[in-house]
Amino acid sequence: MNTAELKQLANHLRMVAVDMVYKGKDGHPGPALSIADIMTVLYFDKMRIDPENPDWEDRDRLVLSKGHACPIYYAALSERGYFGEKVTDFKLRALKSRFQGHPVMNKTKGVDMTSGSLGNGIAIASGMAIAGKYKKKDYYVYSIVGDGELQEGICWEGINTAAAHKLDNLIVFVDKNGWQSGGSVEDTIGTNNVRERFEAFNWHTQEIDGHDIDAVKQAIDEAKKVTNKPSVIVCNCVKGKGLSFMEDDNAWHKGVPSDEQYQMALKELGGIQ
Ligand SMILES: [Mg+2]
Repeated sequence: MNTAELKQLANHLRMVAVDMVYKGKDGHPGPALSIADIMTVLYFDKMRIDPENPDWEDRDRLVLSKGHACPIYYAALSERGYFGEKVTDFKLRALKSRFQGHPVMNKTKGVDMTSGSLGNGIAIASGMAIAGKYKKKDYYVYSIVGDGELQEGICWEGINTAAAHKLDNLIVFVDKNGWQSGGSVEDTIGTNNVRERFEAFNWHTQEIDGHDIDAVKQAIDEAKKVTNKPSVIVCNCVKGKGLSFMEDDNAWHKGVPSDEQYQMALKELGGIQ
């Protein structure tokens, strides 16, 4: 897929995620839309995966540490063919549904790790990367963490461990959108100088526009050239990206579009098929 097609696909995934929240009457649309472009590049351009063999040992893996953003994860997996026919009614957050409010690996095909208890992703992804090294596998492990999430102490334990083990098969994205559940990251416990902090822990670091498809692609290519170090790609993102009424408004961390807003979303994101 070329850049224009990937961009269009990212907006389609955004629309599916919004549809899921609208119909399920609950969920986290803002954090999902923030990482739509990263997810699109991973699942439709960069990751070595086989939807028909989701447990393939040599596959690349993703740990969505900010698990509450899962509507975009489910949208990507569906579009990529993990569930056979594309899912049109996700039953998000419903009892016994395979599409829970946070990803559950034993319920949803293609989900590599259960997540949602914030802070754990980098440590878990590091474990997967260590296992890959130990077994002499050449897969990559990706993880997406929130900027607010970096306040969790265990993140830094994982960051330290990954550097100590020279995990050049680990690539972490920080979704730096400036917001977290309770308010702005800066007003909560500021996590300034994210890139410099990773640098100090001996990671390879890059900082990009997380909505620039080509930049995301290039940053991954660059990270793959690095040896003996884990890589972080700090992505400047906009929470709720793609919808005029949602962008940079933290009220959409968790919320359900009204009928009118749903119609606006259809218009702005190009409808839903
Ligand atoms: Mg955030």
